[in-house]
Amino acid sequence: MNSYETDAMSREFAENGFTVVSFDALADIYVINTCTVTAVADQKSRKMIRRAHRTNPAAVIVAAGCFVSTKQDDKDRLPINLIVTNEQKGELLFLVMRYISESDSCEKDIVPPQTSAVENFTPDYPLTPTPSPRTRAYIKIQDGCNQYCAYCIVPFVRGQERSRSKAEIIAEAKELIAVGFREIVLIGINLSAYGRDLSMSEALLSLLDEMTKIKGLLRVRLGSLEPGLITADFARRMAANEKVCPHFHISLQSGCDETLVRMNRHYTAGDYMEKVAMLRLAYEEIYGNDCYPALTTDIMVGFPGETDDEFRQTEDFVRAVGFAEIHVFQYSRRPGTAAAKMESHVTATVKKERTRRLHSLGETMAAEYRHRFVGRTVKAILEERKTIAGMAYWLGYTDEYIRVAVADTELLGEVSQGTVITASIIGQFGGELLGKNDGKRYRDVMGAIPAGI
Ligand code: SF4
Repeated sequence: MNSYETDAMSREFAENGFTVVSFDALADIYVINTCTVTAVADQKSRKMIRRAHRTNPAAVIVAAGCFVSTKQDDKDRLPINLIVTNEQKGELLFLVMRYISESDSCEKDIVPPQTSAVENFTPDYPLTPTPSPRTRAYIKIQDGCNQYCAYCIVPFVRGQERSRSKAEIIAEAKELIAVGFREIVLIGINLSAYGRDLSMSEALLSLLDEMTKIKGLLRVRLGSLEPGLITADFARRMAANEKVCPHFHISLQSGCDETLVRMNRHYTAGDYMEKVAMLRLAYEEIYGNDCYPALTTDIMVGFPGETDDEFRQTEDFVRAVGFAEIHVFQYSRRPGTAAAKMESHVTATVKKERTRRLHSLGETMAAEYRHRFVGRTVKAILEERKTIAGMAYWLGYTDEYIRVAVADTELLGEVSQGTVITASIIGQFGGELLGKNDGKRYRDVMGAIPAGI
């Protein structure tokens, strides 16, 4: 989400007469879009603010976003000229311009802004097609969260749930596809809450139905989902829509019911497993064993009071699900959250060891998941050409978000970034599948070869 918003900020500045340079270059204004999701994120935010000040002590340092939207004790001691909270992000350019005009700290030729507010951030994508189009674009469809999980600072810094209108999202998607993007990833702070504030029922499903009708769009991927969103009907509709990637990132956090209650996560491990079964069944009913959706998740280790036994329950549960990938996070105390006041905080050494164990389990499961594709044919959108161990490869991602590498020598016909190929998988290498281009051109669900492929 922060990357998306940072792109949008760059675009606003660029469109209003500023030259956007790399963060390490000498600049008149530095904008640090901060994060506070963990203590490490806080630390990185402080570091970037100080780094910008060191690069040019005369520059205007603007700190925006989550870290500066919370009550950080040391915020006043940081070299910040202007704080822009999350609620003010839409007015960032206006606030920066006002700061500059009211202070003498910047004597540069700054063109006055043509807009004073950004209702919705849209990222800095090229407005005309380029010879090598980027392949995957993100669209923010929702912001804020009302869930208040005990460990999470996000509802305090991002505010109440709010959704963008379907019409606006579809218009943005069409624009992105028109400039060459083939895949759209829908993101939100709590994507599963999309439409709740607009009293729209089945809002996400209806958005997906309309979006996947857009000509030229090859696939839509969903960002992180909450288990409560998944129903048998949702699973069936996802499986039936060939443009929706069979890749679902469903937040788990813990596989132990007691821990989940303390976390204020409103489901049990059993509920979660039911959702997993619904998704797998829906795909199996349509595609048999040929399509095995990728299930990925986030797990938090060391939540206050997490005993060895509770952690083992999580480990066993993760193994039983057989995730395609897991992201492991260590709990970190966020002042103001319910968990910060809890007792029995887990030591750093124990958290580290639990992280190591889950990482190792995650790697094993990911390799097992990838192995399912050996001997099968996959579709991949090519993204970049790289030299690995002295050999040139084209790398791309499958619908399940597995990286596929096809050696240049194995590719038939001309390819470039954005080309869609089908590849026979001959094995795996590190974290990637190794493929052989089978010479066939990918046909979309209507049987047509998409333009430009
Ligand atoms: S659902 Fe929970 S973890 Fe996710 S943003 Fe909301 S409060 Fe945080």
